[in-house]
Amino acid sequence: MKHKGKFRADEKGYYGPYGGAYIPEMLYPNVKELEDKYESIIDSEAFRKEFSETLRDYVGRPTPLYLAKRLSDHYGTNIYLKREDLNHTGAHKINNTVGQIILARHLGKKRIIAETGAGQHGVATATVCALAGLKCIVYMGALDVERQAPNVRKMEMLGAELRPVHSGNKTLKDATNEAIRDWINNPVDTHYIIGSVVGPHPYPTMVARFQSVISEEMKVQLSEKTGREFPDYIIACVGGGSNAAGAYYHFLDNEAVKLISVEAAGKGLDSGMSAATSTLGTDGIIHGSKTLLMQDEDGQITEPYSISAGLDYPGVGPLHAWLGKSGRSEVINITDDEALKAAYLLTRMEGIIPAMETAHALAALEKQSFAREDVVVVNLSGRGDKDMDAYSNNLRNDISNE
Ligand SMILES: *Cc1c(COP(=O)(O)O)cnc(C)c1O
Repeated sequence: MKHKGKFRADEKGYYGPYGGAYIPEMLYPNVKELEDKYESIIDSEAFRKEFSETLRDYVGRPTPLYLAKRLSDHYGTNIYLKREDLNHTGAHKINNTVGQIILARHLGKKRIIAETGAGQHGVATATVCALAGLKCIVYMGALDVERQAPNVRKMEMLGAELRPVHSGNKTLKDATNEAIRDWINNPVDTHYIIGSVVGPHPYPTMVARFQSVISEEMKVQLSEKTGREFPDYIIACVGGGSNAAGAYYHFLDNEAVKLISVEAAGKGLDSGMSAATSTLGTDGIIHGSKTLLMQDEDGQITEPYSISAGLDYPGVGPLHAWLGKSGRSEVINITDDEALKAAYLLTRMEGIIPAMETAHALAALEKQSFAREDVVVVNLSGRGDKDMDAYSNNLRNDISNE
């Protein structure tokens, strides 16, 4: 099924001026094979059946759309939470890795590679590789290996081979470069599972398709709960942009739905320590795609910063660069402190501890005024178990008094 419209990629993978496939010649055969084959595979009856059954019985979909009553009263509107935190492995990332592992099998691939920053995508990939019985190699910056011990242990238990990367800043960008190098050297038997709506065409479009199950379910759930199949607002955090792309997907062409994309302002937009790519970024090419990125005057990528490891990517998916540039989405920046406060507010009001990334989306509720009858959906991208150290180190006791 091909989706057309102003906010869909063209045949070459462009969203407005952004996207495309800017890749070294040696990677061309791999990307070309994927581009030629992926659509007919994922549109096939066999794929769709396996994908939807796995999402249902293994991942636990559909995830609930929950009317958060106390939070709604607090903000004087109707706030629904799309509970991606209840997925197996605790976030939306599994939707994409399930789709890509089934695709890899249909492509006849025997070996899976992935990059990971915080380790969330690494865990989601190692999980589906165990499920499919395929070999899994995860590239991770050496600094991140040190910082993300619990996820490292999970990947090892799941049977993945972890390869620490010692080049550059030893973080996500360097891990991605290493994964690309591996793919060039293993063009025949290997599939590269990218973790967000980033990378060369067709990845941004393909990952958005896998995540679009979020908004597909939302339509049905909103009809049941509100009598109308679209909301007034959808709020989502954006690192690379995959949970936001999935939450927006079926509403992109309905301009009655306001899209609010939330990026990490870190210690503040002017602090030099943020990941507010759409606001501070300029046009450039990163990991095979033309998009907005944080770079200095010489085109060197500046190291992003956020309290949330899943949001500190120096680029943004080309779809989101275009949504922001064209005015379809509104971009809001949220600092570490604002996110922490929002995480505590949700926890004390609804008994749900959100992921630190998700807390950024929740903090946007403070910045917007809503009408009493508005229907606002916040995509609750993940749960906060992995962030307990950060939360405990920044414990807020003043929330309950507010
Ligand atoms: C990885 C992650 C994100 C950011 O990634 P996107 O591709 O922008 O969705 C957001 N929330 C959670 C819980 C994550 O694990």
